[in-house]
Amino acid sequence: MENSSNCIPLSTMKESEKGQTVCIFGTGDFGQSLGFKMLQCGYNVVFGSRNPQSSSLIPKGAKILSHEEAAKESSIIIIAIHREHYNFLVDLREQLQGKVLVDVSNNLKKNQYPESNAEYLAGMVPGAKVVKAFNTVSAWALQSGTLDASRQVFICGDDVKAKNMVMDIARSLGLTPLDQGSLLSANEGENYPLQLFPMWRLPMYICAGFTILIFFYGVLTEVIYPYVKNKENTLYLTVITIPNRVFPIVSLILLALVYLPGIIAAIIQLYRGTKYRRFPDWLDKWMLCRKQLGLVALAYAFLHVIYTLVIPIRYYVRWWSDQYTINQVKSNNTYPFLSHYAWLSDSYVALGILGFFFYILLGITSLPSVSNAVNWREFRFVQSKLGYLTLLLCTAHTLVYGGDRFIYGYAYKWFLPPAFVISLIIPCAVLVMKFILVVPCLDSRITKIRQGWERNVKCSAELDIKK
Ligand code: NAP
Repeated sequence: MENSSNCIPLSTMKESEKGQTVCIFGTGDFGQSLGFKMLQCGYNVVFGSRNPQSSSLIPKGAKILSHEEAAKESSIIIIAIHREHYNFLVDLREQLQGKVLVDVSNNLKKNQYPESNAEYLAGMVPGAKVVKAFNTVSAWALQSGTLDASRQVFICGDDVKAKNMVMDIARSLGLTPLDQGSLLSANEGENYPLQLFPMWRLPMYICAGFTILIFFYGVLTEVIYPYVKNKENTLYLTVITIPNRVFPIVSLILLALVYLPGIIAAIIQLYRGTKYRRFPDWLDKWMLCRKQLGLVALAYAFLHVIYTLVIPIRYYVRWWSDQYTINQVKSNNTYPFLSHYAWLSDSYVALGILGFFFYILLGITSLPSVSNAVNWREFRFVQSKLGYLTLLLCTAHTLVYGGDRFIYGYAYKWFLPPAFVISLIIPCAVLVMKFILVVPCLDSRITKIRQGWERNVKCSAELDIKK
């Protein structure tokens, strides 16, 4: 039989699982979808319902009985009912003695109740073995067979045998069970589907903050300043020119922010002389979202590249270029070739291309399929050494772009530094601190601390010698 439903083939199923009967309480969306999937994978399915006569709702091939009768048919009962309706189970305590009850429920809000739904169920039917599972899989995914985004099933429970039985079922449905330990971790599993990109929130806020700030800085210096000074209308610059300043600047700052927490952590460890003390919470959070910060930075670098590629076809650019040529013709004067500008322009483009290449390499190695194929040392080499190289190249790209404009007064409108100068502050600070930290005496001290050495703890051998 072709396995189009993601189930593992019947031939590879354990003898005990073949033709096993599983009971599902509740004929709602989830009960039906899970039942449908189980039937496809070779299980016998019996539904327990308040209305056993409404058999038209259930998938073809399944039986529908009252809760009491259905419970007798199987040692595993999946409770596909919302927690708010669990009360009726109290009356079934006797029938549910020794049975494996699978709690699949989710809540509407995180930590909605004092205890997890699974613990609540276990308290309600003390004689049963409660296992939390399947709550991270959607009814739609089960029915449509598109389990790509939600193959992982967190499973927890206090009875190891019961947990293994549920893990076997998950496997035979083509899912990936992950043992999360005892029922105490059910709360975490129940909160999981309610999370909305928790690791992306901080990077997004930082990115949005810098984007808005740099955009308005650009509007102030490129649009408001020429209007106030010369009544010149340059509002059109807000469409491509200013965004094409915002993207590289924010990208460079975010890339530096990926490496800054590592440096702060190293300084804290050097200062404390130990690694056995927790970092402040804000630093922990920052470190945990470095990958997401880097990916947002890469996305902005991409936008910068695309916006830069369209420069030659822009009307505004072509008009200036024509004017440049016309002015030379009018004045019968050919402007001289300035080789140092050629150097600056070529170097700046070359550094940008190389920086972008390593940026992409960093992005690719952060993909799980690629990072799984390299060992820890290789991963660290790419993310740390190549990461710093990328930061160095991108910072150099910006420095060379600035060229000698740093020293010309006309670039400082209303005494404000050009935006690219602002973009260099954090990356340069990060690079300088990194260069200081790799000085051998500091580097060896950090390495020692990270291997477990502590400044204020004398090793026993040292103490023995002194005695
Ligand atoms: P649903 O469509 O509302 O179905 C719930 C079923 O519970 C009903 O069809 C009904 O079945 C039974 N029921 C309702 N009131 C009851 C009561 N007072 N006493 C006893 N049984 C009652 O809900 P669902 O979407 O299938 O969700 C069921 C459970 O699965 C929930 O805990 C949910 O959090 C969880 N879940 C759902 C999904 C999903 O994608 N839908 C995903 C993961 C987990 P009978 O009429 O047959 O008795």
